Amino acid sequence: MTSKTPQFDRALDEYFAKLELDEKGGQWRTCRFSGNEFYVRPEDIEFYKMMRVPLPTLEPEERRRRRFAVHNSYNLFKGISAYSGKKIVTIYPPGSPFKFYEHQVWYSDAWDPLSYAKNIDSTQPFFSQFYDLQLAVPRPALISDISNVNSDYTTGSKGLKNCYIVFDQSGGEDLYYHQCCSNDKNCIECWALDDCDTCYECKLSRNLFQCFYCEMSRNCIGSSFLWDCRNSENCFMSSGLRNKKHYFRNEYVGPEEYLRRMQEVDFGSFNEVQKLREEFRQLKLATPRKPNWNEKSENSLGDFIWSSKDVYYSLYADLCENVAYSEGLANARDVYDTFGGNQTERLYEVSNIWDENCYNVKFSSHVNGCRDVEYSDFCNECTNCFGCVGLDRKQFCIFNKQYNEEDYWRSIDQIKLTMLKRKEYGEFFPPEFLPFPYRVTIPMSYAGFQDLENAQKYGYDTSLIPIDTADEGGPDEILAETLPDNIKEVTDEILSKVIVDKNGKRFRYLRQELEFYRTHHIPLPREHPSLRMAKWMADFVIRLRFYERMCGKCGKNITTSYPPDAPEKNIWCESCYLSYIG
Ligand SMILES: [Zn+2]
Repeated sequence: MTSKTPQFDRALDEYFAKLELDEKGGQWRTCRFSGNEFYVRPEDIEFYKMMRVPLPTLEPEERRRRRFAVHNSYNLFKGISAYSGKKIVTIYPPGSPFKFYEHQVWYSDAWDPLSYAKNIDSTQPFFSQFYDLQLAVPRPALISDISNVNSDYTTGSKGLKNCYIVFDQSGGEDLYYHQCCSNDKNCIECWALDDCDTCYECKLSRNLFQCFYCEMSRNCIGSSFLWDCRNSENCFMSSGLRNKKHYFRNEYVGPEEYLRRMQEVDFGSFNEVQKLREEFRQLKLATPRKPNWNEKSENSLGDFIWSSKDVYYSLYADLCENVAYSEGLANARDVYDTFGGNQTERLYEVSNIWDENCYNVKFSSHVNGCRDVEYSDFCNECTNCFGCVGLDRKQFCIFNKQYNEEDYWRSIDQIKLTMLKRKEYGEFFPPEFLPFPYRVTIPMSYAGFQDLENAQKYGYDTSLIPIDTADEGGPDEILAETLPDNIKEVTDEILSKVIVDKNGKRFRYLRQELEFYRTHHIPLPREHPSLRMAKWMADFVIRLRFYERMCGKCGKNITTSYPPDAPEKNIWCESCYLSYIG
């Protein structure tokens, strides 16, 4: 097949021919940002050749930071729609230079993205021109699907009904302060759950029903304070259980005694639950755990890798093959440096959240159902597009301008050749041209990338975000510490009050929330929801590092993401862990 971009291909072939590789076929490089040395593996070089891209200039962790910094997934603001002039909820903080429309309008035919068409000036740098296009084309105020019903205070969401303050959620009903989950019902304040029903303060779990304060558990019913349990029912403050019933503090007590002991625990008391939370924290630290949470995966390095093969340096990969430096993927094949997505193949440097069905997409964000697309943002079902923003079902477009096929390829060949010579081609969008200030982006929410000084040095906008002070003050305020200790003592009057937490942040309880707490004997939370939600993510590290250490039981060498000084002392090898679990 003759090349559609012959000049570019010739230049790239020359680039690869001149690469100096070590005896294994890889190369050590120096990160352009951090100055750290990083190794490009021989198999990585094969991937870059296949994808027709030059080698990366940033170490994997700095690529991860840049990719994550595209998204504000956990902060909502009030702003003015550039379409209707109405005050709406948006992910763009006050003072943002971006124009946004109500997401319902944005996803409709009410506006024409091609009307923003621009000619690219090849004598000028690419990224600043692309940023100008991003500033001109409206963006959706929220990354919300139009299928959502009565769920306006959500972003990164689809298939939701009656949800409030829910982030990164695919499918769900009656959820509050809930994030990074899918297909849940009737839950409050949970993080990273799948297919759960009636849960509170649970995280990283699947198929839980009526479970409270449970983590890393699966297929459990009617339980609380469980850590790493499976198929267990009516259990309390236990860890490492498999197929168990009526366990109380890791001891089998039988149904009658279980009930008697459970009646003695005052779950409705704030003070009591604080003590239980501390007991649970100690239990988690003491329980033996595996070097990582990978399962059924071959030749894979990372964490939370399930049913996958040849996954390297990645987090959260389910049913993946030949994936590296990526996170949050399902059903991906030949994918590198990609955040999010389902059913994808041949992706490189793509940052998406619930988008799917992409093939051969590079250096793009928010692309859904796209093929052969590069350097684009918010495009849906497009083919052969380059440098486009907000397009829906288009092909042969550059900077939102429609070309015929022949002119498209002639221009693309020239643009990519020029970009390659200028060392622009091969880079994701640079930090100075990302859509959000760093402080509201994903990296700031998790442990690992909160080093603002470095972020600023690398070009991220680390400026402070103005705080909306509109709901401050008022006669109905009460201090959180004066709330009744026990949910039994709380009357409906609380719904008319503004609660001021110990940090001075103000919030209210919703009626549905109060009903949930009453039904399930949960004390009123005393901190602003944003602080409660932030706490969930704080113990989850997204900066992947691996350490050699010895199994705490048999002394065998293991590779783990727990550093030697981690408070979790009992990191055991797979076989010791399995014999402990029994
Ligand atoms: Zn061992």
